[in-house]
Amino acid sequence: MKQSQLFTKTRKEAPADEVSKNAEFLTRAGYIYKEMAGAYAYLPLGICVLEKIKQIIREEMNAVGGQELIMTSLQRKELWENTDRWSDENVDVWFKSKLKNGTEVGFGWSHEEPISEMMKNYISSYKDLPAYVYQFQTKMRNELRAKSGILRGREFVMKDLYSYSLDAEQHEKFYQGVIDAYMRVFERVGLGDDTFVTFASGGAFTQFSHEFQTITDAGEDVIYINRDKKIAINNEVLSDKVLQDLGVTRDELEEVKTAEVGNIFNFGTKKSEQMNLYITDENGEKKYVHLGSYGIGVTRLMGVIVERFADEKGLVWPESVAPFQIHLVSLCSEEADVKKADELYETLTKQGKEVLYDDRIGVRAGEKFADSDLIGIPLRVIISPKTLAQDSVEIKKRNESEAKIIAIDELLK
Ligand code: ATP
Ligand code: MG
Repeated sequence: MKQSQLFTKTRKEAPADEVSKNAEFLTRAGYIYKEMAGAYAYLPLGICVLEKIKQIIREEMNAVGGQELIMTSLQRKELWENTDRWSDENVDVWFKSKLKNGTEVGFGWSHEEPISEMMKNYISSYKDLPAYVYQFQTKMRNELRAKSGILRGREFVMKDLYSYSLDAEQHEKFYQGVIDAYMRVFERVGLGDDTFVTFASGGAFTQFSHEFQTITDAGEDVIYINRDKKIAINNEVLSDKVLQDLGVTRDELEEVKTAEVGNIFNFGTKKSEQMNLYITDENGEKKYVHLGSYGIGVTRLMGVIVERFADEKGLVWPESVAPFQIHLVSLCSEEADVKKADELYETLTKQGKEVLYDDRIGVRAGEKFADSDLIGIPLRVIISPKTLAQDSVEIKKRNESEAKIIAIDELLK
């Protein structure tokens, strides 16, 4: 992509109404646009990152047998009434509205009920199980506060997967597989070392649900970790009994600030009983289906990556999620040199490299470098009359200070 054609522009000043680092840098660099508190639009650069993250999640969800679909955002009231989750007392984040004829509808803040109702059409025999379905959806939640940029939105992208299993054993095997798949996701986006599988409350038939918590000062949660034993517990379930069960003492735990990037639940057969989702087994007997629910906050994850890697100059993307692999910065203005820079851009692109090409003419070198630092692409390649005199370019990694000159031939190799 040519930067001269990118409609977004970088900004030097921090937006006055943002307090979080992620929103400040993402706004200044042109990745997001704030529509209102807790609601952000994703601009071309923002979409590139979001799609990279989604693709990593998609690959891992497909690998455990997930099938992708997209449910609707408009939801039926009666489905949620059946399970006692329509009332604002029980679910305090609902956005609700009415059709012209007065029928009440909700905007999806989660999808267990509608997706399970839909699955009733396809699940009736033990032969139909297990079934694993997932989606990337814009969830709507009327959150009380939205001050953490894209870490907490009133509208945000979630990946939610739902598992339908024959029995507790089949469920448990898949559930453990999802824990591993989630950890692979967090490793692939660069957060493996900072993310902990955390014992949390919830889970209808088990004592715990599991949260995936990433260490960051921007987070709103506090958890207690033991790095050697790889144990993490959130503050809701921290008690003498739980410590004893897990085989740690309070002194062995370190208190850290975190953001919840994922959460997985075992509903057992509770929801299936409420919703009448059952199968007929080999012996012709009626059995309720075991349901699991597995979320990853996709846009929150993007924000946590920003918080974890950004430095004082701007964004620093890990290669796996960067909007482009290479930022080709041209300092050329003479026609012959510009032609050579254009050719390099085209050759790299033909090689299949993802290149953002700063082809702007009449912008000072210092300004181009500041923009490049702000945008945060992993590898910068500078082409200038000086480097061209030696048929070379200068290359520099975003997270290193050292630059080096290499021949263009060598770069292309
Ligand atoms: P939180 O405790 O942070 O409010 P939650 O427990 O209500 O989150 P879940 O219902 O478990 O969230 O949703 C699954 C995932 O979606 C969470 O682990 C989180 O990563 C993400 N998420 C939840 N709420 C938001 C939000 N308002 N904005 C962005 N991401 C969110
Ligand atoms: Mg949660």
